[in-house]
Amino acid sequence: MLKIENLHAEVEGKEILKGLTLEVGRGEIHAIMGPNGSGKSTLANVLMGHPRYEVTEGSVTFEGEDVLELEPDERAKLGMFLAFQYPSEVPGVSVANFLRTAVNSVREQEVPPMEMYKLLQEKMRLMDMDPSFAERYLNEGFSGGEKKRNEILQLLVLQPKLAILDETDSGLDIDALQVVARGVNQMRGPEFSAVVITHYQRILRYIEPDFVHVMLDGRIVTSGGKELAEELESKGYDWVRQEFGAGT
Ligand code: ADP
Ligand code: MG
Ligand code: MG
Repeated sequence: MLKIENLHAEVEGKEILKGLTLEVGRGEIHAIMGPNGSGKSTLANVLMGHPRYEVTEGSVTFEGEDVLELEPDERAKLGMFLAFQYPSEVPGVSVANFLRTAVNSVREQEVPPMEMYKLLQEKMRLMDMDPSFAERYLNEGFSGGEKKRNEILQLLVLQPKLAILDETDSGLDIDALQVVARGVNQMRGPEFSAVVITHYQRILRYIEPDFVHVMLDGRIVTSGGKELAEELESKGYDWVRQEFGAGT
């Protein structure tokens, strides 16, 4: 479904991804773990089509299509969910407005307002979210947890084939982690794949991955099942560096 081959990418002239290869099949949940600075967020940004990251070598295909040739919105239309962080507040645009725009941008036909309303209510109920959340202005005064809720609500209403979630290293409390886990677990099934990128093992207590990959210095250096995450937890990333580091 998603196939990344020998991916090299740089930002501001500095090579960060140095030959990353990964294949994600239909219905599979993959975790990518790695120490700070190993290039995890860079991978997420490249998959999203962030303009600051330049791919210099390698390929990324999704269901056979060359993803690197597509704009971010075209990637979304194919069924890739890229958890965009909207760092700035958007005054006057409510969560509901934003989600309607997001849904309509990936569907062939516009969703009628009533259907959209019902869809949103249903997904918010699933996530135990207060209905008033939908009326709040996007990111205005949102806590880290509320930004996550918005992101996961987006995942649930868009129903993508593949989600790429970058758990940033800092600031997510257990509540927010559980929101993410619950969203992914709701989506879990034969038609949904996910790549969960994380520094810490803790989210993987709530989302059981089928495969775990360890990233170091812009590459995946080892892969295994969920027990690999536990091994990492006990041995730490120093072990990874000793075992797989090239002394850089
Ligand atoms: P991780 O998410 O694994 O912590 P990142 O992908 O954020 O790693 O960063 C990998 C390396 O790339 C770091 O050395 C970081 O400083 C550098 N880097 C990432 N994004 C940028 C950027 N926009 N500008 C300059 N350097 C960057
Ligand atoms: Mg980091
Ligand atoms: Mg990161």
